[in-house]
Amino acid sequence: MEPSWLTQGLPHLWLPYTQMKTTPPPLAVSRSDGVRLYLDDGRVLIDGISSWWTAAHGYNHPHIREAVTRQLELMPHVMLGGLAHEPACRLAKRLSDMLPGDLGHVFFCESGSVAVEIAMKMAVQYWINRGERGRTRFVSFRGGYHGDTLATMSVCDPDEGMHTLFKGAMAEQLLTDLPRTPEKAGAFERFLAAHAHEIAAVITEPLVQGAGGMRFHDGETLKAMRAACDRHGVLLIVDEIFTGFGRLGSMFACDQAGIVPDIMTLSKALTGGTMALACAVARAHVFEAFLGDDAGMALMHGPTYMGNPLACAAANASLDLFEREPRLEQARAIEAQLRVELERARKLAGVVDVRVKGAIGVIELEKISDLNGLKRRFVEAGVWIRPFGNIVYTTPPLVIGADDLGILASTMVRVVAEAGA
Ligand SMILES: *Cc1c(COP(=O)(O)O)cnc(C)c1O
Repeated sequence: MEPSWLTQGLPHLWLPYTQMKTTPPPLAVSRSDGVRLYLDDGRVLIDGISSWWTAAHGYNHPHIREAVTRQLELMPHVMLGGLAHEPACRLAKRLSDMLPGDLGHVFFCESGSVAVEIAMKMAVQYWINRGERGRTRFVSFRGGYHGDTLATMSVCDPDEGMHTLFKGAMAEQLLTDLPRTPEKAGAFERFLAAHAHEIAAVITEPLVQGAGGMRFHDGETLKAMRAACDRHGVLLIVDEIFTGFGRLGSMFACDQAGIVPDIMTLSKALTGGTMALACAVARAHVFEAFLGDDAGMALMHGPTYMGNPLACAAANASLDLFEREPRLEQARAIEAQLRVELERARKLAGVVDVRVKGAIGVIELEKISDLNGLKRRFVEAGVWIRPFGNIVYTTPPLVIGADDLGILASTMVRVVAEAGA
């Protein structure tokens, strides 16, 4: 039996990426705790997705809950225009201290897409403020994903960003291949050389292309990109919205590659999955390009809820947990276990690839013909796994225990085996 709030409300609720005519209704969830989602009908699911990769510490972590509750009693929100508050100042300082190099100027907003938009605006105005006109385009990569708003769609993979459907409604950017091999690095270098005069920035996801298909690349690829951008005087935006905060076993993917981007975007696990918060963080030379006696040189952006105190309190509490608890070791333990347990899927019919990087485990199939059927099987098996495209993947909360992770992995292998049979 569906609860009455679902029956009555659902006809008025427009769901994400959902064909509202044919997709089965969503599950009624009433409670979350640790790595579990509690459904209204009494079923319990082990969460293999962390609510779009946000819930690094599991759900309802008492330390985050206490911090948000304390802040709620003090001051839930004030504008950041002309006012500043302790949670935002503390968070900006902490992020600056932990990010690589001189990434030290934090601009807050509420969603990842908007953080990427702000990074893009920063890059365009950086060149204008330095007197270089005409540098308004972005280089992005096949397989990439940077958000759902119009500007971010323009730097997504053409299919993911629906470039054909939305042609004319968004800017046309410069799309190319990741410089994964020495040959491709050479081609990338020539590409930048030819277009440098019109490029504001190169934008990439570091080490993992997430929503575009869970594809991995190595640190050398990022190093080649950084070096080429330096040689041709082009800014590099690294979108760590998915990879940031421990998902790959280091605090940030850039730490593993040993590179410092000019602008970095963060969101998803920033608050440990508790509140909506994102930011674009700039290096000193980017920030300094906005300083001047001319008011028109300022960054003209300001989301209403930017730096929301509740969200910043949640993020500060989440960072406490990264300091106090062995999250990065936990991510690496997840990696080791997934490598062993998902390997069994490699020989199954219809499986093209099995890959693991940090706390991300992927089974890639030739195709998934009945996506809704596959989703249903996972729920029936008591796990929350959401395949997309031709990908079955897990990004569990970093606190998941070996037993629960074993259930997630073995269920993935079994459901894929049954679906292929
Ligand atoms: C999710 C994601 C975004 C968009 O974030 P939203 O909060 O959904 O707008 C941008 N970039 C990457 C790499 C992401 O994974």
